[in-house]
Amino acid sequence: MSVTHYIDGKYTAESERKQALFNPATGEQSGEVSLASVAETEAAIASAKAAFPAWSEMSPLRRARVMFKFKALVEENIDELAALITKEHGKVLEDAKGELTRGLEVVEFACGIPHLLKGEMTEQIGSGIDAWSLNQPLGVVAGISPFNFPVMVPMWMFPIAIACGNTFVMKPSEKDPSSTLRIAELLTEAGLPDGVFNVVNGDKEAVDVLLTHPDVQAVSFVGSTPIAEYIYSTASAHGKRVQALGGAKNHMVVMPDADLDQAVAALMGAAYGSAGERCMAISVAVAVGNVADALIEKLTPKVKELRVGNGVIEGMEMGPLVTKEHLSKVEGYVAKGVEEGANLLVDGRGVQAEGGDGYFLGGCLFDNVTPEMTIYRDEIFGPVLSVVRVPDYATAVKLINEHEFGNGTAIFTQNGDAARQFCHEIQVGMVGVNVPIPVPMAFHSFGGWKRSLFGSLHVHGPDGVRFYTRRKAITARWPTGLRANADFIMPTMK
Ligand code: NAD
Repeated sequence: MSVTHYIDGKYTAESERKQALFNPATGEQSGEVSLASVAETEAAIASAKAAFPAWSEMSPLRRARVMFKFKALVEENIDELAALITKEHGKVLEDAKGELTRGLEVVEFACGIPHLLKGEMTEQIGSGIDAWSLNQPLGVVAGISPFNFPVMVPMWMFPIAIACGNTFVMKPSEKDPSSTLRIAELLTEAGLPDGVFNVVNGDKEAVDVLLTHPDVQAVSFVGSTPIAEYIYSTASAHGKRVQALGGAKNHMVVMPDADLDQAVAALMGAAYGSAGERCMAISVAVAVGNVADALIEKLTPKVKELRVGNGVIEGMEMGPLVTKEHLSKVEGYVAKGVEEGANLLVDGRGVQAEGGDGYFLGGCLFDNVTPEMTIYRDEIFGPVLSVVRVPDYATAVKLINEHEFGNGTAIFTQNGDAARQFCHEIQVGMVGVNVPIPVPMAFHSFGGWKRSLFGSLHVHGPDGVRFYTRRKAITARWPTGLRANADFIMPTMK
């Protein structure tokens, strides 16, 4: 299978440069993906630019109707889309459907765009004068997404962007691009005019065009922190609006009064679901006071019993890691943890996986991890959970607040006062109370703090509408006769 680009409503020819695609569960090559050249990326931008005047002039209600049709089409094709995700990413099929469902929630939000675009109005702001604001689209906007959510993360971006009247160039991850391209076909089938949504596959060469091209007005990026910093600084220096979401190290605090069975069930899903390749995965359990031993006792057998295998087999809980290189990187972290003195209670290296001999790593569990250790500081992005023991609540909060990342966190407790205080003082963008992965629903906005997000606006929800529109303030009067004299002082409303 040869994956090309989707420009102006159709597939292009293959690029000169290509990269192999693999099925991570079997390790077999499944095809290759074209890597866009500068000229191919410019063609996508030109197509989006040409589509902008007509699309932005279309009424918001008509744009919303395309979104309604698109939503129905994704639902009709959900099995096929989930299979494409599993084949290239590796996550289990049910999880792939979960990703699609969460992405669709943003489409549902975007269906309400006629309401969301309404500005503010003040009648009689001065005598005989009215004032109001408009929210207008920016023009051509670009999205660059990571491998771990090949449909959901693009859906954080393009449904709102195009519903607002912008046209879009999407650059998905070159590791698993096929589901994003199928989405482009479904948008065309839903009635989206050609050129409103384009997909270019590629690497730094294509990305650099999107970051610097004068016809691109805004860039939305999700990926690792070093690349997010590069995207933010480069695109900002070229005068673009940018939001760049980066990496994470998410802590879950387990208070001594927590319901341990609930906490353990939550930790299992949050640490090992999708093989830990989620930016909101919990990678550190902070055990407060005397809860640590009981927590470890309940957790250890569950980690050993995880069902690991090809995501297409029913009942699998964890699929493979995305690439061979990523597997070696994560295994390297496990070795480093042992070398630095952490206590490896469950070692997933060399796991016997069902239905494939691809890039598998079983669940790994470390105890007695300390803040100086590399496995505590770095984002591992694999099925590796570290337990850090702290004496009290205040130390748990200090630990989290001192970490360079601030994407998500959670507290498990039965004490409302502790939970409330935690929400108030924690330096993290998304907080769960007895909820391990507090990804905000589509009607709210998603984003971390500190080195987990560069830019001022979060993604999707109300911030998504703000990011993809610019404001215009109108002040108007219709005098019965224009005044004869010019005013040379600063106008004030009388
Ligand atoms: P990545 O940073 O390697 O890649 C992300 C995108 O950037 C891809 O499209 C890739 O092609 C492009 N890219 C890679 N190197 C580049 C370069 N040198 N110049 C320009 N573009 C480049 O990330 P990944 O490995 O695909 O995804 C995993 C990372 O994404 C993790 O760090 C994870 O935490 C993060 N992530 C964050 C969020 C969030 O909401 N904060 C969500 C999902 C994933």
